[in-house]
Amino acid sequence: MSVKGRIAEVFDSVQGEGLYLGEKQLFVRFFGCNLSCRFCDTKLNRFIEYEPEELFEELKLYQNDYHSISFTGGEPLLQIDFLRDVLRLTSKDGYKNYLETNGTLSGELEMVIDDLDVVAMDLKLPSSTDMGMLWGMHRRFLKIASRKEVFLKSIICQSTKEEDLVEALWLIKEVNKTAILVLQPNSFEDHNQMQEKLETFRYICKKADITTCVIPQVHTIAWFR
Ligand code: SF4
Repeated sequence: MSVKGRIAEVFDSVQGEGLYLGEKQLFVRFFGCNLSCRFCDTKLNRFIEYEPEELFEELKLYQNDYHSISFTGGEPLLQIDFLRDVLRLTSKDGYKNYLETNGTLSGELEMVIDDLDVVAMDLKLPSSTDMGMLWGMHRRFLKIASRKEVFLKSIICQSTKEEDLVEALWLIKEVNKTAILVLQPNSFEDHNQMQEKLETFRYICKKADITTCVIPQVHTIAWFR
């Protein structure tokens, strides 16, 4: 018997962050997360249970004029058995699978990497998240993700320390120096006050020879979600 998944919502919209900003996607938002970032804007309190086949049938009802299916959260990899079954169905049917993940569950990623096309991975900077260090988890995760197209995203807050960025750059250099790092100013803070910090951070990335770009989240604009 297949495992049921807890899904907060299914909708089509336009990607609001990262390198695929502006691309139309079909979104499947998974319920639940293993982290508790200070800046989290996806506090979910409701879900619907689906069998993998049920979700797949629902996805097929949407007009397929989008770039890919974005499996997002929460943290999709937390529901690995369900996710694996869904990804098998979608990839077998020719859909492109895009995973948005906090980049911590490498064992689970290993189980589904073959059915993924793009991995959009968070690189959590401790002075941004107000959590402990996750470097070891991120290192293992990026190694596996690098078998497919991967890019990294780090939220930058006024509290973010330069030393955390430097540590992140070391990690990228060590594991996959061609991976692009997207710096995302925290949408809850005044971007103008962070301009100087973002400029400094861009310069540090350039010196480290890591390709980077500053892309704000635009979820709150018009029909972006
Ligand atoms: S990883 Fe994402 S969903 Fe989980 S707590 Fe952090 S910001 Fe929220």
